[in-house]
Amino acid sequence: MSELPRSFSHSSASTFKQCQRRWKHKYIDKLPDPTGEAALVGQFAHDVLEQLCKEESALRTEAKAKEIAANIWLNVAQRKDFKNLKLNSDEQREFRWKSWNAIKGLWDLEDPSKVTVEATEQRVSTSLSGVPFFGIIDRLDRNEDGLVVVDYKTGKLPRYGDDNFNQVLLYAAAVANKTGEQPSRVRLLYLGKETMETEVSSDLINKVVDDLSDTWSKLKSNLDNDEFKPTTTPLCGWCSFIAQCPAGTEFIKKRAASGKLRPDAPARTSLGL
Ligand code: SF4
Repeated sequence: MSELPRSFSHSSASTFKQCQRRWKHKYIDKLPDPTGEAALVGQFAHDVLEQLCKEESALRTEAKAKEIAANIWLNVAQRKDFKNLKLNSDEQREFRWKSWNAIKGLWDLEDPSKVTVEATEQRVSTSLSGVPFFGIIDRLDRNEDGLVVVDYKTGKLPRYGDDNFNQVLLYAAAVANKTGEQPSRVRLLYLGKETMETEVSSDLINKVVDDLSDTWSKLKSNLDNDEFKPTTTPLCGWCSFIAQCPAGTEFIKKRAASGKLRPDAPARTSLGL
């Protein structure tokens, strides 16, 4: 029987809810799960904006962001995950262009020189309803109503009805637990696209903490029984563990045979399709 993890992040909980088998391969078996191109673009943008928002407010300009991005790019280009993408020079230019578009997309949403930043990349580790929660908050701001939990997003806008705010509400719960001050708002900055935000209420916080606690209980039971069922969805095409998963392999082969598998799905390479 495997031991319970020492900490449980929103990302870990989401992976478990999406597919228990995937969670086991990632968090128990610790099989390699390389960061894909889209996630590397996101990390690059996050790193630049983190450094930018550590600057004095008057220095938070696009020119400064460009300077920071040029420095950080040197590190990104040396990363193993980036080298594994094997991008040619045109594709690397495209990667930098996508990253810069995400970074400068911040100015479509706000003027960072007018924001009061309390912290960036703030690590929070605390017990939420008995769950050892861990998270890293992109940015904690202060406005006239109090603290604001901010998270940068570089992916697509979510569909209506998704649990968009769960992650930042958990961060708000963790901040309230650690500091005694409940943030007043949570804000998602979809860089270059749109800002989504909501007021924080005790009801919303209780709901996400209860959900986290339920997921943690299910995880404990799965670990006790050593049972991690696969859940096949089109996302199996992007799962790093597909070659170790018979159910996912069968599902994706069927999708490929019926022409439904996207041409850019990494499973095509993993499974030799
Ligand atoms: S291939 Fe699909 S079913 Fe298998 S572990 Fe990955 S996500 Fe789960």
